[in-house]
Amino acid sequence: MADRYLAFATGRVGARVVRRLGLPRPVVLPRHRPGAPVAAGPVVLGRAEGGHAEKALRAALESCDARVEENAERPAALVFDATGIASAAELDQLHAFFHPRVRALATGGRAVIVGAAPEDATTVGEAAARRALDGFVRSLGKELRGGATAQLVLLAPGAERAESLESTLRFLLSARSAYVSGQTIRLAAHDPGAHPADWERPLAGRTALVTGAARGIGAAIAETLARDGARVLALDTPGQLDPLRALATRLGGAAVPLDITAPDAGERLREQLTEETGGVPDIVVHNAGITRDRTLARMDADRWRSVLDVNLIAVERLTDALLPDLGAGARIVCTSSISGLAGNVGQTNYAASKAGLVGLVGALGPRVAERGITVNAVAPGFIETRMTAAVPTFVRQAGRRMNSLAQGGLPIDVAETVAYLSSPASGAVNGQVLRVCGQALLGA
Ligand code: NAD
Repeated sequence: MADRYLAFATGRVGARVVRRLGLPRPVVLPRHRPGAPVAAGPVVLGRAEGGHAEKALRAALESCDARVEENAERPAALVFDATGIASAAELDQLHAFFHPRVRALATGGRAVIVGAAPEDATTVGEAAARRALDGFVRSLGKELRGGATAQLVLLAPGAERAESLESTLRFLLSARSAYVSGQTIRLAAHDPGAHPADWERPLAGRTALVTGAARGIGAAIAETLARDGARVLALDTPGQLDPLRALATRLGGAAVPLDITAPDAGERLREQLTEETGGVPDIVVHNAGITRDRTLARMDADRWRSVLDVNLIAVERLTDALLPDLGAGARIVCTSSISGLAGNVGQTNYAASKAGLVGLVGALGPRVAERGITVNAVAPGFIETRMTAAVPTFVRQAGRRMNSLAQGGLPIDVAETVAYLSSPASGAVNGQVLRVCGQALLGA
């Protein structure tokens, strides 16, 4: 369902009206176009005294072909190495860097702060100062206008390497992260993984299984992974065979008709993953999901169980079936939801299942890290799909507006985030949940 308010607020007359009335002022967010530069303009790189990530950041920016200019008048991005900040007083350097520059940040600009993780601090004061970065970034994300975003990247000791930073910078600085703001991404010290020969096709030679691929977000994920070079195995229920086949044919992949809740779904999936379909995948995207909303008092056992079956139990079962055969560099991405982080009326079943996925990635990621495998989740907010078109009008309007970007996201926004987490070069990101919600107030 079209967002008429967005169309109105970005029109000539509407823009003036919403400004005068103090209403939310969304802008049309640019999305990535193949061949577009990572950063849309010059990048200003700053550093707090004692910072130890600047060299790696500069090298990674150079590798991204970003133009680093100290005195850019209208920067497309402000990148700040805050790893040296060790006390509350030293946070002044954050203010000193951003205060004079934040107004000049271009439309759709990016603020990226790179800090050290509070749990690795050696003193209480250092932990407090490191944690302060989180509040700063979340507030900046809420203050920025014109589709600009703010993010925090926290480095574990040893992760201050250009190879660990590059895929994350490429994602955060580009239009691929259009609907991601106010988020923290942690980079671990372990092997960041192989860098692709061609960053426009980082998944070349890889096979990706995408569940729930017949429509909505899953179809966008399938298309985006195929765009990035992967051979896609598109899985959905046998009832969706026609759209599934059409998609798989268009993408040069294969259709895998399967109800993931079948008790023998794991075995049947393994049977279907023959050489002909592409064999054991390198990337597994658990996207299939359902809602059966009712308040708990009105929810029968079937509604409860069916949601847990699809959204969590099937994910565990398929993961168990595939995990022994996954090779080094494999990527698993689950689809959680901000409902799973914040809770939502009428969604005790759905939120329990989606929070369960957060638990799954947090526990499984570190367990498979040694094999070079990562397990992460995306947590979409309000995304314009059939699922959200079906919610009552008032709830839909609230969902669209109650985030820093004042609009709903598009399936492509979730897909780009999945593609980033699926990249062979994203090995430093593991066990995490990345919200794709425009910094929604829900659970913020
Ligand atoms: P959708 O309903 O449009 O698509 C879901 C797909 O999953 C469908 O093609 C469906 O046939 C498939 N599926 C359902 N049960 C299955 C089963 N047993 N076996 C195989 N396939 C099955 O949903 P969507 O809006 O595209 O959402 C995709 C994912 O994103 C879901 O996990 C959803 O919970 C999550 N999500 C969506 C939003 C949103 O705003 N749309 C927000 C947060 C999270």
